Order: sequence, then structure tokens, then C-alpha cells
Amino acid sequence: WQQLSTRIGNVAPSATLAVDSKAKAMKAAGLDVIGFGAGEPNFPTPDYIVDAAAGACRDPRNHRYTPTAGLPELRQAIADKTLRDSGYAVDPAQVVVANGGKQAVYETLQVLLDDGDEVIIPAPYWTSYPEAVKLAGGVPVEVFAGAERGFEPDLDAIEQARTSKTKAIVVNTPSNPTGAVWSKDTITAIGKWALKHHIWVISDEIYEHLHYDDASVSYIGACVPELRDQLLVLNGVAKTYAMTGWRVGWMVAPAPVAKAVSTLQGHLSSNVSNVSQRAALAAVGGPLDAVAMMRAAFDVRRKAIVTALNAVDGIVCPVPTGAFYAFANVQALLGRPVGPEGTVCKSSSEFAAALLDQAHVAAVPGEAFGAPGYLRFSYALADDQLAEGMRRLAAWVG
Ligand code: PLP
Repeated sequence: WQQLSTRIGNVAPSATLAVDSKAKAMKAAGLDVIGFGAGEPNFPTPDYIVDAAAGACRDPRNHRYTPTAGLPELRQAIADKTLRDSGYAVDPAQVVVANGGKQAVYETLQVLLDDGDEVIIPAPYWTSYPEAVKLAGGVPVEVFAGAERGFEPDLDAIEQARTSKTKAIVVNTPSNPTGAVWSKDTITAIGKWALKHHIWVISDEIYEHLHYDDASVSYIGACVPELRDQLLVLNGVAKTYAMTGWRVGWMVAPAPVAKAVSTLQGHLSSNVSNVSQRAALAAVGGPLDAVAMMRAAFDVRRKAIVTALNAVDGIVCPVPTGAFYAFANVQALLGRPVGPEGTVCKSSSEFAAALLDQAHVAAVPGEAFGAPGYLRFSYALADDQLAEGMRRLAAWVG
């Protein structure tokens, strides 16, 4: 009789967190592991943000619950930031502050989907989208776009995947895991298509400030203004301000959707920790200097890692222009002996496992992102670690 629910039985654990926790456990056991697994900037959270949090701990106002949807000042700051970056005005009542972008994704799907509703997810995708769809009773429908088109979705393929049950589509640019920045044309085409067919658009903009070369990030709510009544924007402080552990994200949605999410969150987790909300207020209401500095550092690493990956015989890595991930094709290394032990890996999953066990280099296999045959390397780690990790990879494969 001790059965878990079918719902949780259908959900895969987060592969990115699994790789990261295995790497951390190996480190704790004294092994020198280089971690390309976690999507986590290695920079400290800027001082002025930490100071705001430290002050908040001592302020008795922060010892109490805030409204479930977040501190009014923070919701206002997020509305102001949306105007500054995404280029259109929203009311603070449209904002709900959640425990990270991840909770915002989960809650969005919970309030939008009924059992059997389909959500189109362009692949390669961030690993949590399909699982969050399934947890909401929905059916993830993957539409793959390969490296030959810069991992940019093809509208014809999206249209072919549309059925009478299609309720929503996910947009994520700059993309995790590919680092692709989708063109304005693609984003506009998806927005117009969604408008025409009355499909919700869930736009995850968490990497908006991380783009390189001449890539510029387009916002679907600015490209297709008429879409705003069916647009849910997800975002957070994690990647822009090096605040992964502070757990603050948000959603900007049409007011009735925001209200429904707030009702859900009222029974799920109530408000996000006040200390973190005060820190997020300092972040979101402040300048973008820190992210400019981080972007410059990531750019140097991006070039270094792409060069290093492509120098390995059997690895092909397209040049990403956003986020902090390199998405490398390792298909040529599968099915033949690699490493000093001559291990034959049948899949990128096995390849990632062997690389971690034998060379102590952690990367996430493409299976987690709907793209078998690939490995995702996060280059948000220190320069010397990056160089050492690439040296080990080349030596191990070689
Ligand atoms: N969306 C994408 C595309 C991500 O890559 C991540 C984190 O890796 C998130 C959302 C969630 O971020 P957090 O929950 O840390 O705010």
C-alpha cells in the first residue's frame, strides 16, 4: 500500500542538480573535481546587495510575513525594470515574487493547465520545463531545432506540433542549454502565431543581460504588443546579480493570472523570505554595472571554452552568443573507446558519467535537455578551473 503518486513517479529528477551534487560529493570526499555542471556564476553577490540584506535582518519590519505576491516596493521595482529592459509598462499588480524563477515556472503551469493540455517546448530546452508541465497534468510536446539552424526554433515545425489541446508555448532566449539568442524575426513569428491561435506564451527571460558579440536580445512582449494579454514573463535575480542561492524570481502576467498564482502561492510557500526580497529590491532597483562586469568576464571564458572544446578531436561546439553555456556535440566520440581505460560510451549520458568518474570533470549530458549526443558545459566557473577542466578533457579523450 506504500505507493507514491503516479504524478511524482512520472517526473525525472533534475539532471543539472544531480550532476552538481555528485560533483560536490566527490569534492567533499577529497577529489579535485572541476564542475562545469551548475548554471551558477562564480562571482560573489555585489556588496550593496548583501548590505541591504544584512540591514534587513535587523529591521523588525522584516520579521513578519509580507503580502504573498511580494513586498509592494519590490513589485514596483520589477514593474519599473520591465519597462526599462523589456520596453513596455506593466502594473505592479501583474507581478508575483516567487522562490526563484523555478517556482515561477512551476506555478505558471499549475494555473494554466488542465489535465491533458499540451505545451510546446522548443528543444534543446531547460531541463525543468517538461517536468513542470507533467507535474501540472500537462503533456510536453518537444519541437527540436538543431545546430544547423543555430538551435533556433522553426515556426513550420511548431505549427505542425499544434493540436486542439495546445495551451501554451515556452520561449527561452538567451537559451539554456544552447546559449542561442533567437532572432527578432523568430520571436515575432512565434508571438504572432500564438496570438492567432490563442496560445499562452511563457517567456523565460532570466538570461536577458548575458549576450555577446553583436547579439541583441528581443523581448516578445515588445515585438508583438497585442500578445500581452496572453503573455507570462518569467525572470529572477539569480543569473544577473550572482544570486542563485538567494531564491528570488518572479512572474509578470495578466492581472487575473497573477492573482491566480498568488492564490496558489498562498497555500504553497506564502511570501519569499523578507531578507531575500530586500536584497532583490537593492538588486533590481540598482544599476547593471555588476552584470556588465560579469558579462565581460564570461565573454573571455566563452571564447576560451569554445576554442578548447573544438580543439578536441571528435567534439564540435557552435559559438554561443548568450547565457553562459557551451553546448558541444560529442556524437563522434560515442561507440568507440575513449580515455585511458578504453571506455566505450553508448550515449552522452554514459560519456558524462565516465568523464566525471575518470577525469573528474563534471558536465551535464544532453539527454537532460532533449538533445542526446551533446554535453552542456557551464562556463560560469573561475578561469583557472576552466583551463584545467579543458586540459583534463583533452587529455582524457586524447
Ligand atoms: N529558467 C532558466 C532557463 C534557468 O536556466 C534557470 C536556472 O538554471 C531558471 C529559470 C531558474 O532559476 P532560479 O530558480 O535559480 O531563479
